Amino acid sequence: MRKNIVAGNWKMNNDLVQTESLISNLKNQTTTSNAEVMVAPAFTNLYQAKQALESSNVEVIAQNMHFAENGAYTGEISASMLKSVGIKTVILGHSERREYFNETDETLAKKVDAALANNLRVIFCFGEVLADRKSNNQEAVVESQISNALFHLKADAFKNIVLAYEPVWAIGTGETASPEQAQDMHAFIRKTLAAKYGSDVADNMSILYGGSCKPGNAKEIFSKPDVDGGLIGGAALNADDFFAIVNAF
Ligand code: PGA
Repeated sequence: MRKNIVAGNWKMNNDLVQTESLISNLKNQTTTSNAEVMVAPAFTNLYQAKQALESSNVEVIAQNMHFAENGAYTGEISASMLKSVGIKTVILGHSERREYFNETDETLAKKVDAALANNLRVIFCFGEVLADRKSNNQEAVVESQISNALFHLKADAFKNIVLAYEPVWAIGTGETASPEQAQDMHAFIRKTLAAKYGSDVADNMSILYGGSCKPGNAKEIFSKPDVDGGLIGGAALNADDFFAIVNAF
C-alpha cells in the first residue's frame, strides 16, 4: 500500500552554516511516525547535507534539475550531477518554478522523463491559482497539469512518482486549503489516475498536500483518506515545527 511522506522544501533559504545548524537540530528530533521524511536543501548544500544525514532516516532530496544530460546550459544542474552526490529524489514542477522560471507542462514532461531515465524518484507538484479556484476550474486545471506532464508515461513509471497537490493560493500565504478541499482534490486526482492507468496505480500513489501546512493543521489534513503526507515550505525551516508535522502521522 502507499507510503506516507513528509518532505521539507527549504527553497532558497539557508547558507552552508545555517544548513548545518538546521540539520543538527533535525538530528536531535525523535519520532515514532511511520512517514518517510525528506528535506530539500539548496544545490550548494546538497553534498554536505547528504553527508551529515547519512546515518539518519531523513532523505536529502533536490528541489529541481534540468532535463538535459549535460552541455551548454549555464547555471543548470543535471540528473547525473544529483546522482553523483547521492541524491535519489527530485522535486519537479513546483509552482515557483512554473511562475518565476517559466516552466511549462512541456518542459516538465521532459524533466520527468530525464529524472526517471536516471532512476530518480520524482515528487511532481501541481495546483491551481486563486482565479481557477474562484471560477471553480480547479479540477480541470489539475487534470491538465497532470495529464500534460505525466500521461505519456507507462503505468510502471508511476512506482517512482509521488504527486504533490499544492494550490498556489495556499503557498506561503498562511491560507490553507481546508482538509475537505484537500481531500476532494486528492480523491479527484486518484480517480483521474485510476481512469487512465487502473486502480493499482491509483491506490499505490502517494499524494501529498502542500500549502501553509503547519503543526496546528497537519493532523487534520493528514487524517483525510486520500492525503498521504505533505510538502512543507515555511514550517520546514524549523526542526521542531517540521517534526511536529512529521509526528502528525
Ligand atoms: P508553504 O510552502 O508551506 O510555505 O506554504 C509549501 C511549498 O511551497 O511546498
